[in-house]
Amino acid sequence: MSTLETTRWRDVVAGNSDLSRAYIDGAYVAAASGETLACVSPITGETLAQIADCGVEDIDRAVAAARRSFEAGTWSDLSPRERKRTLLAFAQQLVEHRDELAALMTIDMGKPISSSEWEVDYSAECLQWFAEALDHMYGDVAPLGPNLLGTITREPVGVVGAITPWNFPLLMPVWKFGPALGAGNSVVLKPAEQTPLIAIRLGELAATAGIPDGVFNVVPGRGEVAGQRIARHEDVDAVTFTGSTSVGRLIMGYAAESNLKKVSLELGGKSPNVVLADADLGAAAERAAFGIFQNTGQVCSAGSRLLVHSSVADEVVDKVVQAASGWQPGDPFDPATTQGSMVDETQMDRVLSYIDIGRSEGAEMALGGSRVLEETGGFYVEPTVFRVDTGMRVANEEIFGPVLSVVTFDDEDAAVKVANDTAYGLVAAVWTNDVTKAHRLARRIRAGSVWINGYEDGDITLPHGGFKQSGFGRDTSLEAFDNYTQSKCVVVNLAG
Ligand code: NAP
Ligand code: MG
Repeated sequence: MSTLETTRWRDVVAGNSDLSRAYIDGAYVAAASGETLACVSPITGETLAQIADCGVEDIDRAVAAARRSFEAGTWSDLSPRERKRTLLAFAQQLVEHRDELAALMTIDMGKPISSSEWEVDYSAECLQWFAEALDHMYGDVAPLGPNLLGTITREPVGVVGAITPWNFPLLMPVWKFGPALGAGNSVVLKPAEQTPLIAIRLGELAATAGIPDGVFNVVPGRGEVAGQRIARHEDVDAVTFTGSTSVGRLIMGYAAESNLKKVSLELGGKSPNVVLADADLGAAAERAAFGIFQNTGQVCSAGSRLLVHSSVADEVVDKVVQAASGWQPGDPFDPATTQGSMVDETQMDRVLSYIDIGRSEGAEMALGGSRVLEETGGFYVEPTVFRVDTGMRVANEEIFGPVLSVVTFDDEDAAVKVANDTAYGLVAAVWTNDVTKAHRLARRIRAGSVWINGYEDGDITLPHGGFKQSGFGRDTSLEAFDNYTQSKCVVVNLAG
């Protein structure tokens, strides 16, 4: 879909060689090997740039720079107030470069421009929030009696490795480096292969804001090489990861096999959105469509399983299908577009193959099911709604695309059983006008967040993260600082 905007931003990327390099120790550099990876726009399928493919040597340089800066205290020893000032300046850089950052995100990932603008705005707010929080945290004094003074304080771990996915190319990094830098650590960030541009751009914005050299490094590259090296590194003190459960499992293994670094994992989901018969069905269906179709379903907390009471299932499915008309793919640079392309051809093929699996399992297709806008060269899939049985793969496996699986249930116990019959436990929602039932279900469903009569409500002030194989550690709220700090006790003997 070669609109004027796509061409314009393709030329911007091609004309700025810094956007294709790693950012290590305060400078843009090529990979030591000279190797590169193609950065492809999923809007047209065109290659935008050849990006540094960081290898072991580059990761080692970035970690060494991070360690040096941490030990030198150029950041870690600043007063919290000073770090706050600099992180606020960093957030302000996001605000000032909003249009550019949003366009880079859209051309790299295929996200609609209005969603990219939202993501830049919200990322800036989150970074501001972490900055404002960092000097509002106090240590503790233990109740040890008259002869001992015991203080408990939080210290930064040192060097933090952050490995992020492509679905929110700015917000996921911010949720990690915000609190990590806020606590005084130095950071090595590896963005996803599919969406390196915006993370790379952050290097210069961090420097402009006053983050010292070596404190914030960005190393694009392949997960199995660059990501693995970070997670196995003997001199990385904590690794924070967002991505698939299968890679999360590897990350834990790498930490175990190396230096037992601290690990936090935000992983996948197959989240249940439960609609009881007495709910406001129109509102539930509207929000269910948002829950699965926003960001083309490429959302860890997507409401990909719609559990509906059998007495209202036909009505709810009809309403979801109607609501889906507001989520048809279009030109990502058109401000009116609500659904863009999938992130790449692989992800599109994966989603289409799940649609085939659903068909072959006998799932009843209520809407969609096809690739669209193929003539653009881009990778677009239309909103798809299946009515499924609980045993089907499309009812259980994370598809990470605009595919909704609708399951029916006959009573509350059955709803809870189906909701919890998954290895995941990231989020859930319950729709009912009965307050008692709402709270009862919220208690019984095993997930990190449960929304009542809503979906994705809330903000940075709530801890985001999962139960079970959706991971552990929380990326937002004050709990996020726990991933990047450790507590220290100092005990003074006052007996004389
Ligand atoms: P992914 O394949 O797990 O990749 C995530 C990141 O890990 C990428 O930077 C990737 O690098 C890197 N990686 C891959 N293999 C690695 C290895 N062996 N060692 C170290 N790093 C490695 O996931 P994705 O496809 O990007 O994202 C989709 C998944 O993320 C979904 O399952 C989704 O549910 C989950 N997700 C969860 C959340 C959450 O908050 N819980 C948020 C967003 C996404 P490459 O890009 O080079 O492969
Ligand atoms: Mg890309």
